[in-house]
Amino acid sequence: MTTSILPIPIFKDNYVWAIINTDTKTAFIVDPGEAPAVIEFLTQQQLTLGGILITHHHWDHCNGVLELKQHYSVPVYGSYKEKIEGVTKLVQGGDHIPLEESLTFEVIEIPGHTLGHIAYYARNRVFCGDTLFAAGCGRLFEGTAEQLYHSLQTLAALPEETQVYCGHEYTQNNLRFAKTVEPGNRAIDERIERVNALRAKQLPSLPSLIREEKQTNPFLRCSSPEVIAHVEHYAGKRLSKPVEVFAQLRKWKDEF
Ligand SMILES: [Zn+2]
Repeated sequence: MTTSILPIPIFKDNYVWAIINTDTKTAFIVDPGEAPAVIEFLTQQQLTLGGILITHHHWDHCNGVLELKQHYSVPVYGSYKEKIEGVTKLVQGGDHIPLEESLTFEVIEIPGHTLGHIAYYARNRVFCGDTLFAAGCGRLFEGTAEQLYHSLQTLAALPEETQVYCGHEYTQNNLRFAKTVEPGNRAIDERIERVNALRAKQLPSLPSLIREEKQTNPFLRCSSPEVIAHVEHYAGKRLSKPVEVFAQLRKWKDEF
């Protein structure tokens, strides 16, 4: 089977992701924050909707579910820990979702941004909503810094060639912060150039790779001496553990 993944941009900077089996012309949709853009996309591309995957309960990731269900009778997957209208298949970490004969997604629990936040992983691709962003991470709305730190470590432990499909186009702003936190990291400069070139053509900066996140995302670099030094300067105190560096870094980004 041949899979292609396309973004459906909605709102100011959200991406709904379409996972398309190009042989059967079936699409699975990740995080439809609204329905009209998804319906238009499916119609234009002559695709059948196979199902919907939800990463977390925020409105900009699931508000389109009920309207889509009026048009298509499909399973809707979501975390058993979150109350999401329209979800028909409650899943938890370790569950395997056989979307099609040769495409099975694994559910990974990644709490922090919300308590029931999950990611869907298959074939070196991960759909991680608002937890790991390109060069950044989601805000702490419900969980603790420890939870989000461990969730990001879980994602960072995926194979380096894993493509990261997150929920928002925040990359340029995130890289500005990354550069502030770790000005001596040349890989950040190179990534800024690459991303600026894509955005100048109005192309998504996504997907990224776990490898480049580990090289340039400050939230995955809480053991880097330069990151630690800058975060300690911001916090005005010594920080002895990576998770403490992470907690201060998240706070710094909130104010950035
Ligand atoms: Zn969110």
